[in-house]
Amino acid sequence: MAMLEVRDLEVYYGVIQALKGISFDVNQGEIVALIGANGAGKTTTLHTVTGLLSARSGHIMYEGTDITKIPGYKLVSMGIAHVPEGRRVFSTLTVLQNLKLGAYTRKDKTEMDATLNMIYQRFPRLKERVNQPAGTLSGGEQQMLAMGRALMSHPKLIVLDEPSMGLSPIYVNEVFDIIQSINRDGVTVLLVEQNAKKALSIANQAYVLETGKIVLSGDAKQLMNDDKVKKAYLSE
Ligand code: ATP
Repeated sequence: MAMLEVRDLEVYYGVIQALKGISFDVNQGEIVALIGANGAGKTTTLHTVTGLLSARSGHIMYEGTDITKIPGYKLVSMGIAHVPEGRRVFSTLTVLQNLKLGAYTRKDKTEMDATLNMIYQRFPRLKERVNQPAGTLSGGEQQMLAMGRALMSHPKLIVLDEPSMGLSPIYVNEVFDIIQSINRDGVTVLLVEQNAKKALSIANQAYVLETGKIVLSGDAKQLMNDDKVKKAYLSE
């Protein structure tokens, strides 16, 4: 059984069908990438998995439980954390306040402080800026804050939407290194990326979405060598 099993998912915005029956698995401990062009349905997929959108039909199973109709705030306490597209940090709040908001489901202060220390070790730049309003951080730092905020809930599965979007190449590499280190620490990763080359280079499995359907899937390294994938998504 996979940690996350998505089956025949159909999602609509009014009369517009954004997902036309997609199915995929995320195995525990893996990094799974969803790639595809603008408007393919990647963000819609993530929003449905994290309970921000509801499916018209289909199922989402997480650790053997049907979570299709469970709202997002409950999924956080079940171990699913979402890092949204565009980071969405609270810009007038400080770095520390943003991080603490990520821990709203946790009650044990000692454990929360331990997670905070782990985050400071992983993101030294955030530690240096704990009292700075989040809106004054650079794009890359805001991405790190958004990832740190998600880690504060002590997730088993982290769902990342376009973490490299709008970042300079140095930050892109750093963000991907961090995703790999989070994964090495045992957190399963579901990753949506425009940067297909980078995403495939760190992923175990990958799925290619086109206009609401999965058109290709498999081992990420094999997909990197697939002619169709190369032509459509990896051209420089
Ligand atoms: P992007 O990288 O541009 O975010 P995406 O692959 O994440 O693309 P989605 O944002 O999931 O794609 O969009 C899938 C489809 O649903 C698109 O055709 C889009 O226009 C449509 N869509 C998305 N959000 C809405 C909305 N709020 N109302 C109506 N249609 C929407």
